[in-house]
Amino acid sequence: MRLKDKVALITGGSSGIGLATVRRFAEEGAKVVFCSRRAPEKISDFMQELKDAGIDANVRYVQCDVSDEAQVKALAQYVKDTFGNCEILFNNAGIHLAGKLLETPPEAWDRIMGIDLRGVYLVSYYILPQMLEGGWGSIINMSSVSGICADYAMCAYNTAKGAITNLTRAMALDYADSNIRVNAVCPGVVRTAIAEHTFECVPGSEELFRQNYPTHLIADPVEVANACVFLGARESDAINGVNLPIDGGITCHTGQPQVGTY
Ligand code: NAD
Repeated sequence: MRLKDKVALITGGSSGIGLATVRRFAEEGAKVVFCSRRAPEKISDFMQELKDAGIDANVRYVQCDVSDEAQVKALAQYVKDTFGNCEILFNNAGIHLAGKLLETPPEAWDRIMGIDLRGVYLVSYYILPQMLEGGWGSIINMSSVSGICADYAMCAYNTAKGAITNLTRAMALDYADSNIRVNAVCPGVVRTAIAEHTFECVPGSEELFRQNYPTHLIADPVEVANACVFLGARESDAINGVNLPIDGGITCHTGQPQVGTY
């Protein structure tokens, strides 16, 4: 087991990539607290699934909005009281918002910055002291390909994820000599509620995504979760400050058309 008895916190763990990561961390022997803003109806089904697999004993769910400081502070305390100092933090919670700058009213801008960016800062702020006290830690921030390059009509999301990419580097430098590593995962399109929403709203968009990706594949949440297991585990102790694309190679591309050999 690659995460045996490691204490982990996963934000936004009620669905999609976060839920897949809770499952993978539990399978690898971690003690996991996961949160989401609203308690989902399906959480009992998920806990039952973990129970059937015999990996439910060390998994706890807490309702917490990562943009609310008091709730985040209480969440961090809950982790410490329940399992001890947090050792692995996956700052995964996030929302998506489409729109050019003039299609992004101030309240929408503030909302996405509050959850996607400030949420990463806040949870790290309250969890890092536990890692310092414990003497070891691995933080994995959820960025995106949209935090490496920009997309059309995704102004606020690009800004939040771009900031996470550089926040990851800054945190990695500042805490390296305290034995705490900070990396980010940068997925391309992953089949979750966020992607399904785009596919439903824009007919034909799923096929467009497939065409654009060099691998012509839409990732499964577990493929991101597997990268988080690796980044969380001691086996990646030499890896720090990396923003890891999980994107079938789309960020390798300059964007120029394929015109063949001539
Ligand atoms: P999802 O909607 O299934 O999961 C988002 C999770 O975040 C849910 O558990 C939700 O409850 C939680 N959440 C939202 N706001 C919250 C808040 N204020 N406080 C606490 N929890 C909150 O979608 P997903 O695709 O699994 O998204 C997870 C992360 O992955 C997001 O940060 C997203 O930006 C990122 N991402 C997704 C894709 C993709 O294609 N799906 C690609 C790159 C990055």
